[in-house]
Amino acid sequence: MEVTKHLFLNLSFLMILLFISLIFIEKSKKFTLSKSSIVLFFMAALWICIQFSYSPISYARFDLRIIPLVVGGLYVGIGPILVGSALILRGFYGLDSGLFLTTLLYIPFAIVVWRLHPWFWKQLPPRRVLIAIGFGVVLGVLTIFGMVLSDTHANWFDVWFAYLVIPATGIGIIAYSIEFVRKNSEMRQQLIKAEKLKAVEQMGAAISHEIRNPLTAASGFVQLLEDDYLPRQKRKEYLAIVKEELHSAERVIQDYLTFAKPAIESFQDLNVKRELKQIISIVQPLANQNSVAISTEFAVLGNIKGDQQKFRQCFVNVLKNAIEAMPNGGSLMVSTEYSHDFVSIIIKDTGIGMSTEQLERLGEPFYSTKGKNGTGLGMMVVYSIVRAMEGFISVESELGAGTTFQFKFPASLRS
Ligand code: ADP
Ligand code: MG
Repeated sequence: MEVTKHLFLNLSFLMILLFISLIFIEKSKKFTLSKSSIVLFFMAALWICIQFSYSPISYARFDLRIIPLVVGGLYVGIGPILVGSALILRGFYGLDSGLFLTTLLYIPFAIVVWRLHPWFWKQLPPRRVLIAIGFGVVLGVLTIFGMVLSDTHANWFDVWFAYLVIPATGIGIIAYSIEFVRKNSEMRQQLIKAEKLKAVEQMGAAISHEIRNPLTAASGFVQLLEDDYLPRQKRKEYLAIVKEELHSAERVIQDYLTFAKPAIESFQDLNVKRELKQIISIVQPLANQNSVAISTEFAVLGNIKGDQQKFRQCFVNVLKNAIEAMPNGGSLMVSTEYSHDFVSIIIKDTGIGMSTEQLERLGEPFYSTKGKNGTGLGMMVVYSIVRAMEGFISVESELGAGTTFQFKFPASLRS
């Protein structure tokens, strides 16, 4: 079982590589890697395969290079580059008849996968996995014919088992992992979008109420202004009031728009105090509806690095939750603290609080105690944004007494 043993050794190296890259993708948050790093990664995989190959006779080497070639060729479209590198790498181990056969097999393969790459991506995910496995089987069979030609005196049962089962299994596992990661990242993005839409909708309702008040006041004064015998002084006074009311309606709309604007990913220096003031003015209408008084206590210093839209989305969610936890009114305290390396943001409410079990589930997608009025996505978005900004969250809560959220972000140097 020499061939099988060697291929299993190859496979375990590839699986370790797959595992490392999964961790890497998970940590890199964005699920996108540059093309050159992908090429390097596949070249490393190829080199490992060729280095640990089975070489029963000096002029031939048998290994699992099929796997990186098929996966890289179909999924990334770098078939020709990979085949080129495989031939060069293989060349270092000797210019012999094995290399000749390899060239004969892989150059047509490179052209075929390169042409098929766009078509491949149009297929549904399960079919993609099957197609990749199919390629693995075909290449496996062709490799076996190569073995027959080079007369290796191998045990044929061993060879057939090794080349039909192992590459297909490896390709299947890797292709399935790729599809899994892709689906996950797509779903995560959709969730964030859905939560934002829901928040925009709810804020919209509260805000239209908030706009109606100044507009009603303004139109009342306009009616008074219609009086032809109004003294000049009064007329001026009324006009000033109308102007002020219209201004305040405009401010509400402006705030709403800054929140509803689609997010553009960019890291910038954020002045925590200024941002929080903005965010508070966004949720102020909601607080008024619930008779919640908001008080603040800001440290003088404190800048952090992050995306402004995301930061707003995060704290609008936290403040909304705090306000919603006080349906019969209460007080909401927003404060910041600055220490050498960290900026802390503390949000304390006097609402209904959470039990230990509720606290444990906080941030779980779709976990909500608000029935129809909740999405259970707000805190999940909060956690993911804070993680992306390298911050920490700690929560203390007592049923009936209130909840305190503490956020800690690394201070940016410019503050
Ligand atoms: P939603 O607000 O749509 O219910 P979230 O993810 O924003 O979803 O919050 C999940 C749950 O966490 C809420 O339903 C609520 O039970 C609880 N929660 C969050 N913040 C607070 C808070 N400040 N006080 C009490 N409970 C809270
Ligand atoms: Mg919420």
